[in-house]
Amino acid sequence: MNYRANIYAAKSLGVTRIVAWTGPGAISRKVRPGDLVLPDDLLDFTRNRPSTFYEGKGIGFIRQFPVFCETLREALRSAAKRREAGREAGKRIHFGGTYACTEGPRLETPAEIRFLARAGADLVGMTLCPEAFLARELEICYAPVAYVTNVAEGMRKMPYRRGALFEGMLPPGEAAAVEAAKNAIPAIAIAAARAIAGEERDCPCAVSMERYRKRGVIGPDFRGWVAGPKGAGR
Ligand SMILES: [Zn+2]
Repeated sequence: MNYRANIYAAKSLGVTRIVAWTGPGAISRKVRPGDLVLPDDLLDFTRNRPSTFYEGKGIGFIRQFPVFCETLREALRSAAKRREAGREAGKRIHFGGTYACTEGPRLETPAEIRFLARAGADLVGMTLCPEAFLARELEICYAPVAYVTNVAEGMRKMPYRRGALFEGMLPPGEAAAVEAAKNAIPAIAIAAARAIAGEERDCPCAVSMERYRKRGVIGPDFRGWVAGPKGAGR
């Protein structure tokens, strides 16, 4: 996947906020398949993905707190709560959690999951990195909604099941809950988007490059930030 092209294209279209969705596995025992989680932190264990627009440019030393847009997370939280209070009563939603991103496509070994658990990861998946960081580089708000798809390797006894999803890492009885959680995300995202549409952004994401702008290192147009050095021909 061309991570940078996707974020660049979104920026070019005038996108200011991105709601991402992801289907990770559960490491934390507080989280189970079919739960929704609004993560608030990331562990990046990707290896072969271009993770910046600013390679060798001397810019982009951007603070990563909050990791995701708090305004957008709050809007998602409110939307999810309203939904929970309504017809989706009983659905479990967790506000906060650390998401570890691995390179994939292979799943993790039991030892890797033990390592991630000790590192503080609640969830493990293969998306969000580097998209979240790239969005921040272009001053786009970004927040994910996770629907928990399976239990991470070694966290529960899960016999190998031939031909099943993740070879048995999703217990058969829990598939319907996962599907329901996944299907709940569009309505939550749309409700959150409606709630803050048109609002002026006053979050750190909106001004992540301000320091460089103030110093005159970059201009107002993001295309100039991303472009190669003068004379480099790109
Ligand atoms: Zn923001």
